[in-house]
Amino acid sequence: MTHSRIQRHKTIPVRIGHLCLGGLAPVVVQSMTNTDTADVAGTVAQVAQLARAGSELVRITVNNEAAAAAVPHIRDLLDRQGLSVPLVGDFHFNGHRLLEQHPASAEALAKYRINPGNVGSGQTRDTSFAVLIETAARHGKAVRIGVNWGSLDKELLARMMDENARTAEPLEAGALMHRIMVASALESAARAEALGLGRERIVLSCKVSKVQDLIAVYRLLAAQSDYALHLGLTEAGMGSKGIVASTAALSVLLQEGIGDTIRVSLTPEPGEPRTKEVTVAQEILQALGLRAFMPAVIACPGCGRTTSTLFQELAKQVQDHLRERMPVWSRKYPGVEDLDVAVMGCIVNGPGESKHAHIGISLPGNGENPAAPVFVDGEKFATLKGDRIAEEFLAILDAYVERRFGDAPV
Ligand code: SF4
Repeated sequence: MTHSRIQRHKTIPVRIGHLCLGGLAPVVVQSMTNTDTADVAGTVAQVAQLARAGSELVRITVNNEAAAAAVPHIRDLLDRQGLSVPLVGDFHFNGHRLLEQHPASAEALAKYRINPGNVGSGQTRDTSFAVLIETAARHGKAVRIGVNWGSLDKELLARMMDENARTAEPLEAGALMHRIMVASALESAARAEALGLGRERIVLSCKVSKVQDLIAVYRLLAAQSDYALHLGLTEAGMGSKGIVASTAALSVLLQEGIGDTIRVSLTPEPGEPRTKEVTVAQEILQALGLRAFMPAVIACPGCGRTTSTLFQELAKQVQDHLRERMPVWSRKYPGVEDLDVAVMGCIVNGPGESKHAHIGISLPGNGENPAAPVFVDGEKFATLKGDRIAEEFLAILDAYVERRFGDAPV
């Protein structure tokens, strides 16, 4: 269940494996591996990690013979683990040859991604594109035509720049670039349809690395077509910079109903799990009320009124506890992802915020009576004291989830 009032831009639904993308289906979270695809064990492990974190589609690089040969084995090993997550093959330059020479890979992939700027030029380009599209049509696969401003179709770029220069009021460079990207996506989609790929098998993307450019390009693209759209800010960067830039760009577009699937392209910090991009994508969708994946922990930032670390530790313990429980809870307790849990630092906003949540605890601030009232469904339920407050609160939380969601119809 979600609480969004967002009017979605209705696109043509596309089936990818067991998934439906577009139409008015929920916005799909996807990610991409950074392993060498020829390393079957390493790629299977990372796809499994991403899928278990919640990635509903996983893209893998298919850049050479060894990678193409590995794809069916990767699919097979994932299936044996009970992981049906659809795989998307990322092709550039030689995708047509790899797909022709590895029909088992063409079959094992649920979707192919091609960049119209990276399939050669002139006659070679037309042939490469045609082979790839005809292979997709023959195998009943979807294709994402993914334009990237770092690798624009040079012939189209030259033609549109010339045309622009001859107009009475030429567009400035940024606006012209947006139009060229959209034209590249739409002309490629029209060519794919002419080659026999149905509209219900086409997904488009136009990726740039600047927030305002992304918003402008996708507004243009959505206004001109009803193809399913993949959203993502390319090369978003590392850490908070990448998260903030992706969130800023994607939120504006999703709020306008634009986007059927999202990827957050974070550069992982050394030692950081690849799954971070999945968590961030889920959190963007949940914050907008478009989807719910996890119970929300509502915690105040803390201030001079609560100088103890007990409050920060408890907020983290509750967050970790929910993450650990969710793989089981999400199957056992439908609707639990909509739960709100408040963890607050003092009496100023603690009791009020805790009463608004399904369940909440208000820890004592400096100088307050060392007791922590717990509220359940807006009513005072218990008062916790001593050094086992965390354990006792988590036990109350578990019992509440069982009571509230245990009888929900599956
Ligand atoms: S609830 Fe209390 S501790 Fe938390 S930010 Fe507000 S005043 Fe500070």
